[in-house]
Amino acid sequence: MTTIPIGPLAGRHALVTGAARGIGAAIARRLAADGAHLTLLGRQREPLEALVAELPESARPQILVCDVTDAQTVARALPPSADLTGPVQILVNNAGQAASAPFGRTTDELWQRMLAVNLTGTFLCTRAALPGMVTAGWGRIVNIASTAGQRGYAYVSAYAAAKHGVIGLTRSLALEVATKGITANAVCPGYTETDLLRESLSNVVAKTGRTDEAARAEFARHNPQGRIVQPEEVADTVAWLCGAAATAINGQSISVSGGEVM
Ligand code: NDP
Repeated sequence: MTTIPIGPLAGRHALVTGAARGIGAAIARRLAADGAHLTLLGRQREPLEALVAELPESARPQILVCDVTDAQTVARALPPSADLTGPVQILVNNAGQAASAPFGRTTDELWQRMLAVNLTGTFLCTRAALPGMVTAGWGRIVNIASTAGQRGYAYVSAYAAAKHGVIGLTRSLALEVATKGITANAVCPGYTETDLLRESLSNVVAKTGRTDEAARAEFARHNPQGRIVQPEEVADTVAWLCGAAATAINGQSISVSGGEVM
């Protein structure tokens, strides 16, 4: 029996990049709960299949194995060719990586990789999905930037440069699409409980000899609420931006960080 989607995003086709885990998986679950049809993009099929298995049938989840830094693959794959759900109406550019190094030890490889996955990937996916939104006269683009797009942090200059770039891209795009029924916004999480955070914690432990608990407390101290953000809290903000209530919200960078940036 086919279930008919209900909810504020009923039948909307949402594509989430980096959907397999962490913030991306939380966004996929939340948009599915709001009735969206989902395309889940990531570099590895297996974890995406695990997520598909837990989503409701109404989400009609389909998988796109794709590296967002590969311009040719992105152009070919988006929107998916054998697509049952129609053009992408909601694009969540979430795929990202956060490598750290002191500025003087930031290699060309690290610099290029941070720009490629966090900034160029966002550009490539948006360029591929935008024409369908313009034709439809409706669209939502939500870029998962970071508080590192709103302020500096030591030892992540490449990541911060890329995330500041995401915010600049979002603002300019927002002006270009403002009269076309499309909004473009950035969501900027503070330290959030995912694999990415756990890797950063392991690095701090390895490099400083601090305990995991001490490193975690140091990260939590950045947040005036004294805690680590949960992926579901980021997903809630994304879902709100995708709904009718946020039609007038355009070109914004919304910090989900307990007030770290204001
Ligand atoms: P995770 O490392 O848990 O997940 C990242 C996801 O991105 C994975 O599903 C990964 O899948 C995918 N990914 C990585 N590189 C690529 C690529 N080249 N092409 C396609 N997919 C890719 O990280 P988070 O969930 O924490 O991060 C999600 C977003 O939130 C990122 O943009 C990150 O910068 C941002 N963010 C995270 C914060 C945090 O503290 N966690 C804070 C602020 C922002 P796979 O490797 O299988 O391809």
